[in-house]
Amino acid sequence: MKIVEVRTHVLQAPLRQPFSWSFDGTATRSACLVEIETDDGVIGWGECFGPAPLNAAIVQSFKKHLIGADPCASEAIWQTLYNRFRDQGQKGLAITALSGVDIALWDLRGKVSDLPIYRLMGGLLRTRVQAYATGTYRRDTGDPLDYIVEEVKEYASQGFDGVKVKIGRDVDRDAELIRAVRAAIGPSRKLMIDANHGYDTLEAIALGRKIADLNIEWFEEPVVPEDLASYREVRRGQPIPVAGGECEFTRWGFLNILTSRSMDIIQPDTCAAGGLSECKKIADMATAFGIRYVPHVWGTGVSLAAALQLLAVLPHTPLRFNPREPLLEFDRSEHAFRQEILTEPLEHENGWVKIPTGAGLGIEINRDTLRKYSVD
Ligand code: CA
Repeated sequence: MKIVEVRTHVLQAPLRQPFSWSFDGTATRSACLVEIETDDGVIGWGECFGPAPLNAAIVQSFKKHLIGADPCASEAIWQTLYNRFRDQGQKGLAITALSGVDIALWDLRGKVSDLPIYRLMGGLLRTRVQAYATGTYRRDTGDPLDYIVEEVKEYASQGFDGVKVKIGRDVDRDAELIRAVRAAIGPSRKLMIDANHGYDTLEAIALGRKIADLNIEWFEEPVVPEDLASYREVRRGQPIPVAGGECEFTRWGFLNILTSRSMDIIQPDTCAAGGLSECKKIADMATAFGIRYVPHVWGTGVSLAAALQLLAVLPHTPLRFNPREPLLEFDRSEHAFRQEILTEPLEHENGWVKIPTGAGLGIEINRDTLRKYSVD
């Protein structure tokens, strides 16, 4: 069996309500899906995180190394592609493109062997995961203290045990918003805050101290991702556990975070940090450093399915009676084809999402949706 075709699909849909986070905004949602086909007609799907047309161009440039290759040789292919692009591609788009290819190859391996990826990775440790709601993006109009409070109340009523609030604009106003959200969701639900690296070190420390009484689960991306010394300052200077890593790549990138103890929780994105192959390695490294792993997820149902397969096998650290279980990031912001791209949506039930048990990623792609949103 060999790979005979590698296709990229760039999809885009306008938003009814454009939204923003600390440093940027969007009026559309887009995605780059990767489709790899074998001479037996078996197809695997993957997704790349980040600018879709650029990811598609890099995946196309990988094509000559993929055509004719054994689709079950995902590890060998990963090494080939990484080594070919290493000199200019240790981080960023070369790795997000590689991630989409790697996920598609795992899906293919699963389809070929008629096994879910979690079985090929050694067996599942859980059959479902608790999801937390990501949302609370800013709109062009209205008072965030009104519409964000309403939004998080809605998540609580849908059964979500945790919500993440977007901050990173202004320390005093952000603190006021976090306090209002905590009051709205009650004292027992998990509350996470995400600055999308909008603060400098002193602002992040000031914010963390200001809301120290609100039982915050983690403080995500307080400062810019490349400045690990500032991450350590934020860890030392305020009491909330520090999370990050959605803008970091491969085992080598995370090795620096782990050895320097810059974060309490790492959040590699499966569609960005190197795919399922690399994220399993990073997760195993994190256990050796005693650092928690909560995947970053922000894409279509394909990225959600990839995260779920990885979540199924994330090790307990430590194993004990009633061990701590990893959480699933469940993006609730507007996305026209997030679920429509799947023939069966990956929805939550009272805040919990089941791990798909079908072959590969356990999903099927809706070709009509693919055509509908394609901008190729
Ligand atoms: Ca984030």
